[in-house]
Amino acid sequence: MTEVRARIAAACARGGHGQQVTLIAVTKTHGPEAVEAAWNAGVTDVGENRVQEAEAKMAQVTVPVKWHLIGHLQRNKARSARQFALIHGLDSERLARALHTEAVKEGVTLDVLMQVNVSGEASKSGVPTAGVAAFADYLQTLPALRVRGVMTMAPFDADERTLRSVFSGARGARELVRSAGHAAEWLSMGMSGDYEVAVEEGATHVRLGTVLFGSRT
Ligand SMILES: *Cc1c(COP(=O)(O)O)cnc(C)c1O
Repeated sequence: MTEVRARIAAACARGGHGQQVTLIAVTKTHGPEAVEAAWNAGVTDVGENRVQEAEAKMAQVTVPVKWHLIGHLQRNKARSARQFALIHGLDSERLARALHTEAVKEGVTLDVLMQVNVSGEASKSGVPTAGVAAFADYLQTLPALRVRGVMTMAPFDADERTLRSVFSGARGARELVRSAGHAAEWLSMGMSGDYEVAVEEGATHVRLGTVLFGSRT
């Protein structure tokens, strides 16, 4: 943990974007003890990619971490959204409408990130870069959703040049979201294999599993 934090700080200094970086410990596939261990190591934010697994862990954990939903959210699980401090995978108008309907019903606002597919890989979810501005405009019609920024995933095993272009593309997407009138400050990008480059390119939230807890096999 100490080493990861030092690497994040060094990458921050190299990148020169002057951002604060939140380390999200990705506890998927690990038990509630991983959440407790992260908390005891000074981590306040944890990430899960499945609602059901997250809810099971929430019920077993006593430390007051903030839960992030980093994976795809199915529309029929929109009711579960309010348990999360931040939904990272908002990628369609249909999901946005489902979330908004629930939020209005429950009288809450939900913090969300627009997931952007910068690399254009067919296997990745996310809004294509070309659709970001229109989606951001659409989201202005849903006031119970607060669009706090952009999330992206880089291709697995990409070289550094590709990583930089994906991460700086996400930064550009955040500007488009901002231009549409959202208070979009955040950039969720960077996993165990690429978080230093992501932080150099301005990441405000890194999502780290393997580098903290070992491989998931
Ligand atoms: C699993 C996962 C991570 C963490 O991946 P590591 O390579 O283990 O750090 C980050 N983001 C998302 C969306 C994930 O599903």
